[in-house]
Amino acid sequence: MRRPVLAANWKMHSGPTEARAFIAAFTARWTPHTDRTVIFFPPAISLTTVIHALGGRADLGVGVQNIWTEDKGAFTGENSAPIAKDAGARYALVGHSERRHVFGETDAQTAKKCAAAARSGITPLLCVGELLAEREAGATNDVVVRQLEAGLSEIAADTIASMAIAYEPVWAIGTGKTATPADASAVHAAIRARLEKTLGQRAAEVPILYGGSVNAGNAKSLLSAPGVNGLLVGGASLDVQSWAAICDT
Ligand code: PEP
Repeated sequence: MRRPVLAANWKMHSGPTEARAFIAAFTARWTPHTDRTVIFFPPAISLTTVIHALGGRADLGVGVQNIWTEDKGAFTGENSAPIAKDAGARYALVGHSERRHVFGETDAQTAKKCAAAARSGITPLLCVGELLAEREAGATNDVVVRQLEAGLSEIAADTIASMAIAYEPVWAIGTGKTATPADASAVHAAIRARLEKTLGQRAAEVPILYGGSVNAGNAKSLLSAPGVNGLLVGGASLDVQSWAAICDT
């Protein structure tokens, strides 16, 4: 069974100067636990700064918040998986709700992005989650399973077994509202059941993270919910003390 994953999505915060200071303060404050994986997703421009500041610590991973679907070419402003890999990224967020709902990323693009990450040896962390209206219409599991199936549609079962999924209800991201631990467990169970159809017992190897207004106060109850194997944290990962407390959970 995989180890719990604590992932920090810094979104569009922290240039190299701030990122360097954060990592220095965090590594001074946080005592490593070998029973969990901690991953930072800084803005792409701060990626190499974070990697250097971490000084090669194997317990602290680094990833990019987004990649493009192709390996190279005329895609001004984008970063490819090979470029991210060359810069030292080991993970890539794919299909984050802000990519889907602010930038119009489609299910078909998330499929190509997961495939692009996998081709370059980067672990995709595929994000899925329903809008409030979809939850209220009772469509949560349908939406999440549709996004999951689409995102995984262009990669082999072996690759799926080594990736990670994050369930992030859109209405909970950055709003201060969280799913209850019971609601999170129910959706995680639906995700696990769909993974089992493709992977059988190997589905147990895939960590399923919860994300959406996690903070140092609610991290423990969410992480203790059955089927929740980690946390993807935005706002609360920007403060050294609260992020270190979440990583200590
Ligand atoms: C996120 O950005 O993935 C996220 C969950 O943000 P927040 O923790 O701020 O809701």
